[in-house]
Amino acid sequence: MKIVILDGYTENPGDLSWEGFEKLGDLTVYDRTPAEKIIERIQDAEAVITNKTPIGAEIFAACPSIKYVGVLATGYNVVDVTEARDRGIVVANIPTYGTTAVAQMTFALLFEVCHHVGAHSMAVKNGDWSNNIDWCFWNYPLIELAGKTMGIIGFGRIGQAVGKIAMAFGMKVLAYDEFQNEEGRKIGEYVSLDRLLSESDVISLHCPLLPSTQGIINKSNIDKMKGGVIILNTSRGPLIVEKDLAKALQSKKVYAAACDVVSTEPILEDNPLLGCYNSILTPHIAWAPKESRQRLMDIAVEDLKAFKDGKPINVVNP
Ligand code: NAD
Repeated sequence: MKIVILDGYTENPGDLSWEGFEKLGDLTVYDRTPAEKIIERIQDAEAVITNKTPIGAEIFAACPSIKYVGVLATGYNVVDVTEARDRGIVVANIPTYGTTAVAQMTFALLFEVCHHVGAHSMAVKNGDWSNNIDWCFWNYPLIELAGKTMGIIGFGRIGQAVGKIAMAFGMKVLAYDEFQNEEGRKIGEYVSLDRLLSESDVISLHCPLLPSTQGIINKSNIDKMKGGVIILNTSRGPLIVEKDLAKALQSKKVYAAACDVVSTEPILEDNPLLGCYNSILTPHIAWAPKESRQRLMDIAVEDLKAFKDGKPINVVNP
């Protein structure tokens, strides 16, 4: 079986091995593939692996050898799955691999807001401590989480993992989700969105991007929040109306916002959050610890192996 990986670099920049795929066929790996090279690089491959490189109807039409598309991610909107189904092509994804990593990153962002460890370390290395008249100093307000309320929008796998960590820090957990379950009730109290917005000291987004959640953090909902609220987004950028959040950051209605994701990625130079002194922005790295990428790799290999064995798993276009 001829296998082509079109954009393997973010999954494996060199610290993992493609060995699992190599065992399944004749493998070619490209770090990145520009749109105009997709067809040429797929050639007569049967299995195409993509992360963010789009595989639309025109690609399927030009490459009739394709029998399988593996997506190196949970979201598979880069593939025209309907066209693939019509052509009898199996599309498989990675349903879950990064729950603990994303929950951990959510707290990395929150701790940065609470302690500014990076900035304080930099200040010490710049000599600010050596030259300080007192035995200690801090350049930002320091915040203790115990006793504060964490509001979690989207209380699924990641939301509940975040809730458990929040509990461990002595926080009260409020959750808003369209579907409630017993496991969730052990971690937090399910409440209406309005109650969550008005009672939370920290609001963390963990719902998927859907028409019902797009722009859920907008002016009207920010107006319902406590003054000085902290907002965290490790889910999807378009959940936030960024110009509304930027205004609220500037007016200090929102104390700080820490986002691993933004509306357009890579971030545009005119993204309004870039200009806010109280925003913290990271380049969509929550999913990316090595352990998490290894899990993703293992599942991607299992997906292809199952397809090869005639019993495909994690199929998104059955
Ligand atoms: P999940 O499906 O387990 O949980 C999502 C929850 O959101 C579900 O409980 C669902 O009922 C709820 N939900 C759906 N619509 C809602 C609505 N309108 N209002 C409130 N809640 C709603 O998914 P998960 O594994 O916990 O992942 C959550 C999100 O995290 C993903 O959708 C993805 O966008 C994001 N993610 C980000 C990264 C990253 O690297 N930053 C990595 C993985 C996942």
